[in-house]
Amino acid sequence: EKLPEGAHIAVIGLGRFGGAVAETLLELGYEVLGIDADPRIVQDWSDRLTQVAEADATDEEALRQLGVHEFGRAVVAIGTNLETSVLTVLTLTEIGVPEIWAKATSVKHGKILSSVGADHVVFPESEMGERVGHMISGRMLDYIEFDDGFAIAKVRAPRGAAGRTLADIGLRTKWGVTVVGTKRPGEDFVYARPETVVPDNAVLIVAGDTAKVEAYAAEN
Ligand code: ADP
Repeated sequence: EKLPEGAHIAVIGLGRFGGAVAETLLELGYEVLGIDADPRIVQDWSDRLTQVAEADATDEEALRQLGVHEFGRAVVAIGTNLETSVLTVLTLTEIGVPEIWAKATSVKHGKILSSVGADHVVFPESEMGERVGHMISGRMLDYIEFDDGFAIAKVRAPRGAAGRTLADIGLRTKWGVTVVGTKRPGEDFVYARPETVVPDNAVLIVAGDTAKVEAYAAEN
């Protein structure tokens, strides 16, 4: 049975980051070809992915032999060696992979990856560092910032909010943030409606402008 176009994804570099990407894609139902230059890593992954191959991903011929030029998407998860990461993205561009994702370790690294053809560049270390910083200092329980200055955070409900409705506590008017949902520990997430009553010990999922979400969390 043939999978739909794009259901085959190549993950290049099976370190901690690439390994997590590959496992997640597999769980989501994709066919994953893992490629790594290190034979021990290839051995470790051999019975966990759809297919695993030992190859130098900067070698165009090696990638063609593995059929990577026919894949809809590839992820370059080589982080520590800048030259190898850049050459791999360039090779994927040259063999015509339509959608290339790549991990960068610095802003400049990210710019180079984009300039040689990466369509999506991610910065796992710095993004996770920012999140943890917000979680430690900003009194947020979780935090995700999108690249357009928009954030979603899990925060404590304001003091005295328990038993009142979201319309009544008016976080949008007061703080410019929108409540997306409420949650009590161990219970399911409830979608926010104006008439939703804030339970005791509730956490709120709020969304909005990064600065406004931060201001809310700092003051509540
Ligand atoms: P992490 O920090 O996520 O563990 P690393 O950058 O340390 O990432 O590891 C990336 C992986 O990429 C390693 O397993 C390494 O063997 C692999 N790798 C490095 N160079 C190449 C290459 N030219 N071709 C294929 N795989 C490579």
